[in-house]
Amino acid sequence: MFLNRLKIFFITTIIMGSILLIYSLYNSYKFKNSPLEKNIQERIQKKYLYLQSLAYTKFGITRKVPLIISDKLPAKFFGIATYSKKTGKIEIYLNKNRFKESLDYMIDDVLPHEYAHAIMFILGDFSDENAGHSKKWQDICIALEGKKCNRFVNNNDIIFDKTNLF
Ligand SMILES: [Zn+2]
Repeated sequence: MFLNRLKIFFITTIIMGSILLIYSLYNSYKFKNSPLEKNIQERIQKKYLYLQSLAYTKFGITRKVPLIISDKLPAKFFGIATYSKKTGKIEIYLNKNRFKESLDYMIDDVLPHEYAHAIMFILGDFSDENAGHSKKWQDICIALEGKKCNRFVNNNDIIFDKTNLF
């Protein structure tokens, strides 16, 4: 009798566990294969408009920089800013796969950080001092109310003439 109950307990546990596993696999699958949820998109959009307004009021910049949410960025990048010497095109990419665990970080830290790189490009400053994290970049990042304006981070997140990286 006791053994039977034990059996039922274990079988139930296994079934529940499997259901949870399938559910979480389904969720990450769904995340991979659909755009970001609407409320997340709206938050990004709102922050981006705010950054544009700061760029204008603090630096007189009106140029709009395209923001691309990409799932093709290598995992080590949360975001990057790119500049094409050939076309003069400036773009910001955010790694879609990083939104899942780090939503606030992506919006409040990474986005202003990359936007500051984009403004450096707009101002014609392509210095690779400290991989683009010069004092001037830092001042811009802080003016954009960024939280991740540390100059001595070890990330190479500015890319010139992106090739087949992604
Ligand atoms: Zn950077």
